[in-house]
Amino acid sequence: MNSKPQSVTNDRTIRVKFWGVRGSYPTVDQASSKFGGNTSCVEVQVDRRRLIFDAGTGIIALGKELFNGVPSVPAAYIFLSHTHIDHVMGLCFFEPLLSPKARTFILGPGPTPGALTRSLHHLTHSDLFPVSLDELKGKKEIISLVGGETIRFGLPGHRPKIDAPGMGNGGERELKIATYKSSAHPLNGVMLYRVFYGNKSLVYATDIEEQDGGYPEVIEFARGADLLIHDAQYLQEEYFSRTKPRKGWGHSTIDLAIEVAKKAEVKRLALFHHEPTHSDKTMKMIESRAKQIFPSVMVAHEGMEIVLR
Ligand SMILES: [Zn+2]
Ligand SMILES: [Zn+2]
Repeated sequence: MNSKPQSVTNDRTIRVKFWGVRGSYPTVDQASSKFGGNTSCVEVQVDRRRLIFDAGTGIIALGKELFNGVPSVPAAYIFLSHTHIDHVMGLCFFEPLLSPKARTFILGPGPTPGALTRSLHHLTHSDLFPVSLDELKGKKEIISLVGGETIRFGLPGHRPKIDAPGMGNGGERELKIATYKSSAHPLNGVMLYRVFYGNKSLVYATDIEEQDGGYPEVIEFARGADLLIHDAQYLQEEYFSRTKPRKGWGHSTIDLAIEVAKKAEVKRLALFHHEPTHSDKTMKMIESRAKQIFPSVMVAHEGMEIVLR
């Protein structure tokens, strides 16, 4: 058995791994098993830190892998896009939050300093879960963000530094995360994140319903990124369906995601937050359709890894 703490990459790369790619609710059927049924969770290993975007059911397997036979793990930094259930469903089963030896920072949208803590406490209300958030043994700190902040990192394992909007944004090549709060998701909007390290960057933009042609602010936020992970839940025919239109539900079509990627001139696009009723067969059709309009597109699947170097 390996007794060394789980190490985190310390070269100059950004390593991205998808642990959950499904939107709305998890799926367990054979027909969608290749692309995967877990809800949103993306791990980014960079500069000796483990950053985790969203705590959908995908985070459960990630937590177990971190603790696979090791006594302690380096701190994890979880960035929530918002607190809709598909993005926090795995949180109480994330191994580091259950172990007194681990430390987790949870950051996400909240209009006041205690707002995110209050939202997350709903998850463990006694009617829903037997243990309260405070009783979970792992050390944790919950930090509300309003959008526009720059997050910088000191020593690994320490609380990140949050520069208020308009304040300093750190050295040119150091690891930092920019935040942007969009109101284009019901009811309280969604936080978008951009990770910068060296001369590379990636954008995490899930649960956003782009307007026709994309929101200029979002396009600017993603400008020139090496990787854009973008909500692409619906097909055009679903979005504009006569019998059950999905317009206004808070998600983008594949075409809208591609339009934003093109206008922002990103190098690669990963379609994300897949509609749970889409089978592997539908996802393959989406991939080949999407590649005809934007060759550097990928349909994110569970286990997919991308290295930015
Ligand atoms: Zn969602
Ligand atoms: Zn949502």
